[in-house]
Amino acid sequence: MSPEVFSQFASAHDSGTIARQSTGCRDGKEVGLNIYGSDDRVFLLSQSTRYPLSMSALPSSTEVLIVGAGPTGLACALGLAARNVPFLLVDALSEGHNSSRAVLMQASSLEALEAIHPSLPASIVAGGIQSATFNAVDVHERPIFTIRMDNALVKKTKYPFCLLVPQHRVEARMREALAQKRRGGEVHWGKRVVDLRERETEDGSVKWDVSFEGGETVQARYVVAADGSKSTIRSLAGIRFLNPYNKTPTEATPGEKDLSFVVADVLLEDPLPAHTPHNAIQIMVGKGGVVLTAPIPAEPTDLSSRNLFRVYLGVPDTPPSKPDSAYLQAILDARGPGSHTTTHPALKIVRVLDSSRYRTRPALAERYVHRASKGGAYVLLAGDSAHKHGPAGGQGMNMGVCDATELADIIADHLSSLSSSSASSLPTDDSKKPHTADAVELFDAYSTRRRAVAKTVIDMVEGMTELERGGDGWDQWFRMNALWLAFKIPFINSTVAWQLSGLGHAVKK
Ligand SMILES: Cc1cc2nc3c(=O)[nH]c(=O)nc-3n(C[C@H](O)[C@H](O)[C@H](O)COP(=O)(O)OP(=O)(O)OC[C@H]3O[C@@H](n4cnc5c(N)ncnc54)[C@H](O)[C@@H]3O)c2cc1C
Repeated sequence: MSPEVFSQFASAHDSGTIARQSTGCRDGKEVGLNIYGSDDRVFLLSQSTRYPLSMSALPSSTEVLIVGAGPTGLACALGLAARNVPFLLVDALSEGHNSSRAVLMQASSLEALEAIHPSLPASIVAGGIQSATFNAVDVHERPIFTIRMDNALVKKTKYPFCLLVPQHRVEARMREALAQKRRGGEVHWGKRVVDLRERETEDGSVKWDVSFEGGETVQARYVVAADGSKSTIRSLAGIRFLNPYNKTPTEATPGEKDLSFVVADVLLEDPLPAHTPHNAIQIMVGKGGVVLTAPIPAEPTDLSSRNLFRVYLGVPDTPPSKPDSAYLQAILDARGPGSHTTTHPALKIVRVLDSSRYRTRPALAERYVHRASKGGAYVLLAGDSAHKHGPAGGQGMNMGVCDATELADIIADHLSSLSSSSASSLPTDDSKKPHTADAVELFDAYSTRRRAVAKTVIDMVEGMTELERGGDGWDQWFRMNALWLAFKIPFINSTVAWQLSGLGHAVKK
């Protein structure tokens, strides 16, 4: 599809990275294009189908209110739609995220999505690059280890790889699947939740009154907090976000071990130097921190899809908020591929499409469930509102999707147990209180199980982050050699691949 068919609506992104944004219409839906580059060299990174924004008034009540339409909220909505549970999905934004966040998707989230929407993973996989290996090299480009996802997973899953795919593209596919699955199941954008109170209704049951910035109120029995790491719902429910190791509130522990890093989507000069894989992730570990390169797939309609990369750079100091090309290039020149060898040149950035800085500090919610004081109504946490950690190993979105599909199933089970028991028993005062004990058991089990999964994943990510810190001297030399030796052992190699895939955490049915 040529960009000429689209009408231009904006020029020059404020960072100077997007040359043009265009929009057009296809099959009755709005299609957006981000075009990067100068007039003589044009690249198309992203193409997103936007369904008409749902800014209409919200209904006054629903069974389940999902707050947040990131990957977690969307996965929960798909899971509830699969079980025919009524829900509302709201988000404070006016449309979906388009920033550089996750780029790695693991087998466990693809399997979790397949269970609730069989054709969805295929459409996500079609837009990604299947990275069969995870390579680590030192600054001289000598192999430290290669994790073989393919060997370890081939007999265990249809998805024996890490999928390289930008998060905004995964979310777009999930929104499309939701729109197909359920009319009226789309995201209600521009709806920021500001308050949550419990209320006894006229029939004696307990519900949440959830208030929005615009003055609307929605009543719901279950509120799913899928509103990210700064979760409003978690705060309103009084659930603390704690450092998983010393159990202090995360804000109160400015970590001397916090690691800063920058993440950037860049176009690299063609031809790509040897040893920088264009179909797999590579991490280079050396003094000063890690340099990760991950190829990003372009849309099939891309005008020039070559050499689009996500780079992830560990930095010891505080980086600028929007690192520019000169800052990123200086790091690549100092410790990126080609920096310590004469056989090929260092990577050269042609253009920065997007960049930002982050700081890692792990956190885990003290519990994932909050019950109304009179019982019968629940706040349930999933995704980044429940756990937070660095991006090493690409686990956050993955865990959020798996939390959410599991939670959707539990809510559906609880609701169906309520309806079957109310159909089979005579109404008594007790029957109005919806089987509080059962619900507490179900939701507490969810909280305990998924917290344990999150803690295991946080431990793994912290270990990987430690490796990413890099270093020099004998300590580093011994560490690298120990890793080199360990990963030669097939059992260790497959165990790490298995842990990265997240498949071991799936619910056994
Ligand atoms: C640089 C970086 C790289 C990463 N790489 C990876 C990776 O490779 N693989 C991986 O699996 N993960 C990765 N992650 C993590 C991943 O991006 C997150 O784990 C994921 O976005 C969490 O999804 P979520 O839906 O729980 O939260 P979010 O994506 O944060 O979505 C929360 C939504 O809630 C909405 N919201 C917030 N407050 C309110 C409110 N009061 N009312 C209504 N709506 C509200 C927000 O607008 C937002 O849309 C990375 C993260 C970063 C920062």
